[in-house]
Amino acid sequence: MTKHEKRVVFTAEEIGRQVRLLANQISEDYEGKEVVLIGVLKGAFIFLADLVRQLTIPVQLDFIRVASYGSGTESSGKIRITTDVELDLKGLDVLIVEDIVDSGLTTAFLKEHLASKKPRSVKICTLLDKRERRAVSITLEYVGLQLDKGFVVGYGLDCNEANRQLPGIYELNS
Ligand code: 5GP
Repeated sequence: MTKHEKRVVFTAEEIGRQVRLLANQISEDYEGKEVVLIGVLKGAFIFLADLVRQLTIPVQLDFIRVASYGSGTESSGKIRITTDVELDLKGLDVLIVEDIVDSGLTTAFLKEHLASKKPRSVKICTLLDKRERRAVSITLEYVGLQLDKGFVVGYGLDCNEANRQLPGIYELNS
């Protein structure tokens, strides 16, 4: 593999299948309730768009954006909210929709932040679960696909803002 080559890790078909399964499970678990899906920008935008269209329960949508002071491809753990949710989450069932959980620091921070808004529940749905560098213990209620290691792009995930538009998920040659 030369410098700019990419190796396919999950095809668009594989992703589509998993998103459908997740949507079925979420629709079943939240039956009779309304769920607030909170997409974590920017990486989760395609996943959220595909997921929400397969749900059979009423939903509200909001977004949150975070910045990590990390450099390169590793999270530093120093996270701040750059755009917060606008909906009042008090008493509501909240589902955080993430692109990928790596160290878990971002998701743990977000969960705590959203819990402080007094929702009835806060759960996590992530398309990708990359466990190798997990630094905190965190429960992920809904996981689409497992990844051992590597830095991936596509289906919303970027590398310096490039490759978000790819329909599949690819590992970048580093
Ligand atoms: P964590 O705080 O769990 O270490 O990192 C979470 C964030 O790091 C993700 O939301 C994502 O922005 C970024 N990240 C972690 N692993 C990858 C990866 O393999 N590819 C891309 N594009 N971003 C990643």
